[in-house]
Amino acid sequence: MKRTPPLSREALLKALIDCGRQFYDRRWMVGTAGNLSVKLSHTPLEIAITPSGLSKGQMTLKDLMIIKSQKPGKLTPHPYSLSPSKGERVGVRGSPPLMPSAETVIHQTIHETLPGCGAVFHVHPVYATLISNLHGNSKQRQMLQFEWLEMMKGVGVNEGEIAELAIFPNWQDVSIVARDIRQFLLETPKALPVVLIYNHGLTGWGRTPEQARNHLEIIEFVCEYLYLKRLLSTSSPRS
Ligand SMILES: [Zn+2]
Repeated sequence: MKRTPPLSREALLKALIDCGRQFYDRRWMVGTAGNLSVKLSHTPLEIAITPSGLSKGQMTLKDLMIIKSQKPGKLTPHPYSLSPSKGERVGVRGSPPLMPSAETVIHQTIHETLPGCGAVFHVHPVYATLISNLHGNSKQRQMLQFEWLEMMKGVGVNEGEIAELAIFPNWQDVSIVARDIRQFLLETPKALPVVLIYNHGLTGWGRTPEQARNHLEIIEFVCEYLYLKRLLSTSSPRS
């Protein structure tokens, strides 16, 4: 099979900027919400990530942050262990200095757990968030099983296979969310490349930024389909 050559560091950073603009325009990253990362190196783990508190629709390369894990292979995820000194800025725009998102630890964990993962995107699309509310739980992970749709091939689920979407509790200590996702991924080799977080949003990944974006698009479509189908089946016919 023909393999696409890996993207250069510069191309990966530009892809982050471009995806931020696309997702903001789709209203998946309203306000300053959401965060996007690409893997620059697996060992030691090095990622570029969007900063906290900045609109993802108007970022420049200077706004991105480079985070290197202190102990590769022994990641102890905790958002508060991150400090500006551990986040190297690509550029020097902004005053006061921008900080990496508290959710950086989720990105680091997914990148570290899945060696083939090249991009992790966390966004807040309306339908995925609605489905997380309707089928999720604030204390326990839920697995949402649903009928197969042709589109599911795009996230690796073929006809006859069970499509199951994990919905994690939205712990305010983000390191617990990261730990839960890591454990789930290690236990579930055939997990979908996306998870939901209860009353929060959607996180997806892929080998490349383009593939991660496609995965998010498919799952947001499926969530819209599920929500509208539920709405149609519960609305009473007019007499
Ligand atoms: Zn979020």
